Amino acid sequence: MMDTPLIMTQIIERAEKYFSKKEVVSRTDGGIHTFTYAEIAARTRRLASVLGKFGIKTGDRVGTLAWNHHRHLEAYFAIPCSGAVLHTINMRLSPQHVSYIVNSAKDRLLLIDPDVIPLLEAIKDELPTVEGYIVMTDKAELPETSLSPLYHYETLLAEGNPKQPFIEDLDENAPAGICYTSATTGNPKGVVYSHRGILLHAIALGLADSTAISERDVALPVVPMFHVNAWGMPFASVWFGTKMVLPGPYFTPKILAELIEAEKVTIAAGVPTIWLGLLKELEETSHDTSSIRAVLCGGSAAPKSMIKAFEQKLGIPFLHAYGMTETSPLVFISKPKSYQEGLPEDELYELKAKQGLVAPMIEIKVVGPDGEVSPDGKEMGELLIRGPWIADEYFQDERTEDTFKDGWLYTGDVVTIDEEGFVKIVDRTKDLIKSGGEWISSVDLENALMAHEGIFEAAVIAVPHEKWQERPIACVVLKDAYKGQVTEENIIEFLKPQFAKWWLPDEVVFLDEIPKTGVGKFLKRALRDQLQDKYIK
Ligand code: ADP
Repeated sequence: MMDTPLIMTQIIERAEKYFSKKEVVSRTDGGIHTFTYAEIAARTRRLASVLGKFGIKTGDRVGTLAWNHHRHLEAYFAIPCSGAVLHTINMRLSPQHVSYIVNSAKDRLLLIDPDVIPLLEAIKDELPTVEGYIVMTDKAELPETSLSPLYHYETLLAEGNPKQPFIEDLDENAPAGICYTSATTGNPKGVVYSHRGILLHAIALGLADSTAISERDVALPVVPMFHVNAWGMPFASVWFGTKMVLPGPYFTPKILAELIEAEKVTIAAGVPTIWLGLLKELEETSHDTSSIRAVLCGGSAAPKSMIKAFEQKLGIPFLHAYGMTETSPLVFISKPKSYQEGLPEDELYELKAKQGLVAPMIEIKVVGPDGEVSPDGKEMGELLIRGPWIADEYFQDERTEDTFKDGWLYTGDVVTIDEEGFVKIVDRTKDLIKSGGEWISSVDLENALMAHEGIFEAAVIAVPHEKWQERPIACVVLKDAYKGQVTEENIIEFLKPQFAKWWLPDEVVFLDEIPKTGVGKFLKRALRDQLQDKYIK
């Protein structure tokens, strides 16, 4: 067979050639824009020529600090299709971490949204490799700022060449992108994505038993484009000619519901907190969401009650998936097999709430202290992964050896695997609650808590305990209508029939909000810090 290289130019050139009429709808600070793929491709080529004028060469890193919009999509292709490396930066990280990762990647240019200017002004003197800032704005004028030199994206594009050729003869294993994992301890770690990995991962998203993204879809990546390439959805969508809807900055559940209705979105992707917010919105207001064929949810565990509410109350099919920054991210998708569809309702939703079955081309192992665990859905072990879109090291980082060993990625996730091959994440190793030599899954407790009719969000954390080493504490946000109505006792009573007595939280703390990471996951570290004085004596 021919050994033709899998490189990203194929993706954008296919959209340009065969899907020139299909659209990208983008919400920015200036309103809604609609571009065809012909226009997006021409603008991408213009940007590629601009990068050339800046002297960007093969292998150079170009950073983006931006929301999900068409200009970011253009950067997604112009940078790697010039041979350079797209460095998507999580703009919600602390200034110290942003500074660390820009320096670690040695970014030469930064393409930025106007609202990140204050963040960059605070660290600009620490960024010696950055030669310029390009502001992606709808406004004709550049904002007042001390960042320098500063360029206007649209002005540069206007002078760019809409027929600029993309790079040829690139090795498919060359780096196309880099993304840093948000650090829970220490500095963020860089994960490099190759052209080959990105294309193979995109194909996997298109498989019928995966997310099945196709030309007929209207895809709404709510997951930020600075987080694991919006789960690869932009690559798959452009390649397959899928209409895209990009929700832009500061979207709310209301904005998402309006976009879904107006653009007839068929598949949307995001973390559970996004879907909890949308669920509340859709329960309280009326929107036509009948176009949706799949809500893709990953990044942290999707509570069973939420999956059920989407499917049964709203008639919106739910797809639970699992991945990591290190895995591009798709590893598991929870789609019941044909012969499992007839399972009793409760068992079916148990299954859908599992993280699912491994994608083709990816291999896994679940390893306990005595080797591989038995596939009985009970024995726990650490999840190991390998495959063509799984990273094999961190970018210039000595911590590589702890995570990548013997050709496997050690995920740090504790899981079970059942006889059908469905994997369930019990917990992250660092979130497991070790009580009296036994393990308590914070994920299982959170799942149960979020099924309580009065609870909006819940996170369970371990606190130190003299006798038991650690004990669980439940942090709970009540729905507005239930505030002051639901007590700690009610909640413990609700959990009692579902868990062994020693699993029950020692206390329920009522909060107005659960702190979240830059990508909307519950930030348990912040909760631990918040409650530290109370429990750590
Ligand atoms: P961060 O460390 O910023 O959360 P990642 O997005 O790479 O970075 O997080 C990957 C981790 O998220 C996984 O190791 C796992 O613990 C968790 N995760 C991802 N998807 C799921 C899911 N569907 N259910 C439970 N946990 C998940």
